[in-house]
Amino acid sequence: MVSLWDDKEAERFKNNDLEMRVYTSRILGANSDLVLHGGGNTSVKVTEKNLFGEEEDLLYVKGSGWDLATIESAGFAPVKMDTLIKMADLKELSDVDMVINQRAAMTNPSAPNPSVEAILHAIIPFKFVDHTHADAVVTVTNTAGGEEKIKEIYGDTVLVIPYVMPGFILARTIYEMTKGIDWSKYEGMVLLNHGLFTFNDDAKKSYENMIELVTKAENYIESNMGTEKPYVDHLGEDLLSLAKIRKVISTAKGSAVIVNYDQGNDAVNFSALSNVQKVATQGPLTPDHVIRNKRVPMVFERDYNAALENYQNEYKKYFSELNSGETMLNPAPKWAIWKNRGILTFGTSAKEAAIISDIKDHSIKAFSQAERLGGYKALSPKDIFEVEYWSLEQAKLKKSGSSLALQGQVAIVTGAASGIGRATLDKLHSDGAVVVGLDINPVMADASNGRDKLGLVCDLTKDSDIQAAIETTVRTFGGLDIIVSNAGIFTASEGIDKISNDLWKRSLDINLTSHQKFLKFATPFLKEGVKPSVVIMASKNVPAPGKGAAAYSVAKAGLTQLARIAALELGEFGINVNMLHPHAVFDTGIWTPEVLEKRAKHYGMSVEEYKTNNILKTEITSKNVANLVSAMVGDIFSKTTGVQLPIDGGSDRII
Ligand code: ZN
Repeated sequence: MVSLWDDKEAERFKNNDLEMRVYTSRILGANSDLVLHGGGNTSVKVTEKNLFGEEEDLLYVKGSGWDLATIESAGFAPVKMDTLIKMADLKELSDVDMVINQRAAMTNPSAPNPSVEAILHAIIPFKFVDHTHADAVVTVTNTAGGEEKIKEIYGDTVLVIPYVMPGFILARTIYEMTKGIDWSKYEGMVLLNHGLFTFNDDAKKSYENMIELVTKAENYIESNMGTEKPYVDHLGEDLLSLAKIRKVISTAKGSAVIVNYDQGNDAVNFSALSNVQKVATQGPLTPDHVIRNKRVPMVFERDYNAALENYQNEYKKYFSELNSGETMLNPAPKWAIWKNRGILTFGTSAKEAAIISDIKDHSIKAFSQAERLGGYKALSPKDIFEVEYWSLEQAKLKKSGSSLALQGQVAIVTGAASGIGRATLDKLHSDGAVVVGLDINPVMADASNGRDKLGLVCDLTKDSDIQAAIETTVRTFGGLDIIVSNAGIFTASEGIDKISNDLWKRSLDINLTSHQKFLKFATPFLKEGVKPSVVIMASKNVPAPGKGAAAYSVAKAGLTQLARIAALELGEFGINVNMLHPHAVFDTGIWTPEVLEKRAKHYGMSVEEYKTNNILKTEITSKNVANLVSAMVGDIFSKTTGVQLPIDGGSDRII
């Protein structure tokens, strides 16, 4: 493991202990082999003058909910040392009392709650204390004979603490065990099945001890695990089954999930292990992984329905055997091993699926290494249960949970580079859906945010482009629920006797046939969607045609008929199909100020009059249309299908 310490950078913080603490916390957090997503914690002990000029010993300890990688000085809670030390000496202390009294002992009431390990940090008699869940160290301790291996690696240079539930009990145990010892003899402290502490009055030394101790464990693993067995039987991808699996998991969870599908070599190799069921279901690498990933993943080959039922039954059994009055969390899995095909993780958002996937990456590497060191051996279900249902851990998750109208749903919007399509893409995204925008315009690619918004350049008149876009969507997010078939072109105004063959064909190809092709390729996946829904962007020209727009209006009329038939055909699969007839939406690319002015003049109106030339005398924007689309694919319209809805400010030709 490489030290990220930079003398020049560190020089800037040498006169400020808290800033130095921020610096070394961040370089610890920057290495995912040390800590992941809120794991680990750090502290620094300082003396500060209070309002009355009295000196106070304080522990600045990482606040709950902060990540070491991105922590700031505001992320550390200042707690009075004497209170923490007195707490360590108590026989008993409930979580509630611990939290209340630690908060009461803070010198800044707006600081975050101190880490659950604050008392432990306080009793370690050094200025800087660093704590991680280093993969290599927990990998070694999670094997048969792990404790002996730790002694073999470190000799007498570290304190070794048997597993104890984190929080007050752990702090108290260590407080008792270390009374009267000479801490300066030790470079660190290994907590079996949990992690590693290092400490020193010098920030650099404490950090570098961490790196050094972890490196020793990494070297031990490297030289003792032998060569890797080659794996066989990699199957290809099966996207339709993937969508089906997402649907059953979403149903089990009661809300749509985003699936992160890992088909990388490590994931597929792991899934192809002949004993993967046993290796993967021992338990997590370090207890706090249970909060995100549950104790074990689901493992299946073909029959995911049976595997899911079995998983949920096992979870209910685990809960009923170990609970003492808590409320059971949803029993559906957070991740699943798909034999010979890879690994799936399930999140209520793309972000959650990615976090679960990160933990999974580190877990499967450790499981494999531990197997080759003599067998992976995790903590007992009881130990894991205590952490899973620990109120202080559940509190962390509650902070981040919010649910939007389209949370976890997967939507494709065609013609999404600008205008109504772009506004719709953004609206569905802000309503909680992961969104994929398709457009022939290359700027579409710029819409991608690397997480839950994807822009794909796609020629919707080409079967191969459509198929690739739909497959990319399913591969990236696990399925497809919502389609907004919006792509279109406005063709030049020509009388029927003047329309060129090319113009006619182009309008029909794009405004009609491309939608039929798109529906054709999307339907198999939509049938496996969660609350699946389709909105077709037609035109006011359908109910109220005008002179000189035959190529456009005929294509849109055909599109409307296609949508009505789709509503008939797809209803039995729970898919509703509705149509929108927008009119006079002028904030789109076609309507430059010059064009607007010309058209207004043509009708003898000012631009303002022209824009609001409808019954409500109101202007219709892309955003107005997008808001209506979002409603139409959501719960409000879930009992409605085959409907044609104008959004035009009211037209006396339609009313
Ligand atoms: Zn820990």
